[in-house]
Amino acid sequence: MISTVLDQLQRPLRDLRISVTDRCNFRCGYCMPKEVFGRGYDFLPKDDVLTFEEIARLARVFAGLGTEKIRLTGGEPLLRRQLHRLVSALATVAGVHDLTLTTNGSRLLEEAKSLRDAGLRRLTVSVDALDDEIFRAMNDVDFPVHRVLRGIEAARAVGFAPIKINMVVKRGVNEDQILPMARHFRGPEFILRFIEFMDVGNTNAWRMEDVVPAAEIISRLTAEIPLEPVAANYPGEVARRYRHRDGGGEIGVISSVTQPFCGDCTRARLSADGRLFTCLFASTGVDLRSPLRAGASDTDLAELVSGVWRARTDRYSEIRSSATVAQPKAEMSLLGG
Ligand code: SAM
Ligand code: SF4
Ligand code: SF4
Repeated sequence: MISTVLDQLQRPLRDLRISVTDRCNFRCGYCMPKEVFGRGYDFLPKDDVLTFEEIARLARVFAGLGTEKIRLTGGEPLLRRQLHRLVSALATVAGVHDLTLTTNGSRLLEEAKSLRDAGLRRLTVSVDALDDEIFRAMNDVDFPVHRVLRGIEAARAVGFAPIKINMVVKRGVNEDQILPMARHFRGPEFILRFIEFMDVGNTNAWRMEDVVPAAEIISRLTAEIPLEPVAANYPGEVARRYRHRDGGGEIGVISSVTQPFCGDCTRARLSADGRLFTCLFASTGVDLRSPLRAGASDTDLAELVSGVWRARTDRYSEIRSSATVAQPKAEMSLLGG
């Protein structure tokens, strides 16, 4: 039986983002800068990371509390071996009608088919530039863009459509890629989403000056591509949607810095080590792994999760200030984007 649980601001727990690993083969400066996430960095020991069985069990508990949508993320989720086994398990969770995955695309060529066969129906691939030099500099491990583009083609070939493409826009780094990206990813096969650079974690040296506001992104686009706004698919959708007036498909902007959307935020996050975070900008999460491993029943776990959600008051993006930027926050790679 599903019992909807509401937080202090009357927001239901509709979405769960599950980070399956805190590791990544890229070192995007806005997420895992090399200087911090280098050789000496303490990633989670293997035993601390939830098994697929543990994740699937928690997913069922969340579904019982009204969660309908699950996104697998990380770190880089496709670094987790046999991820398709987890996808198969999650694809059959009663009540979850939307199962999706966000990836940097580096292993998509190899994995697209097994993910599709396992029941994954939607996919988001992060691509910050088409220009190879800019792309390599942004992932900071010299990974060529053509391999990600081939992965995206492989995903299309096995039936993913439309594929969402995420581009984080950083002032002076890839802003001149906005139009080339919009030209390349136009058409019904793709939904390109431009994301404002956010102050997630404490290591990415975020500064307001480096944010290209969504309004500016839209005005740069409309200088060449006539766009019209489209209504949201559902309350709580993170992207503001636009459509090419000439029928060339859809784009979105995720403006969490300049136009925050906390009022509709129905997202919980489960870190790779089984902590429940109620906001992307939270500093701590509630440990679900210990009770899970100590033999808690599904009812015990549901009570724990609903208690945390009922107490939730998070609205970080609406109260962001120079003071909040400096406060301790968990890293994006731990709790998933
Ligand atoms: N590794 C996968 C990837 O890059 O798609 C999944 C995890 S990543 C943390 C999820 C999303 O968060 C990506 O689209 C990434 O671009 C975005 N992201 C990471 N750091 C960000 C930041 N500081 N501001 C805005 N978006 C960010
Ligand atoms: Fe890795 Fe994704 Fe973070 Fe880039 S954004 S470092 S690909 S987890
Ligand atoms: Fe949700 Fe926190 Fe982002 Fe607001 S800042 S939209 S509460 S995750």
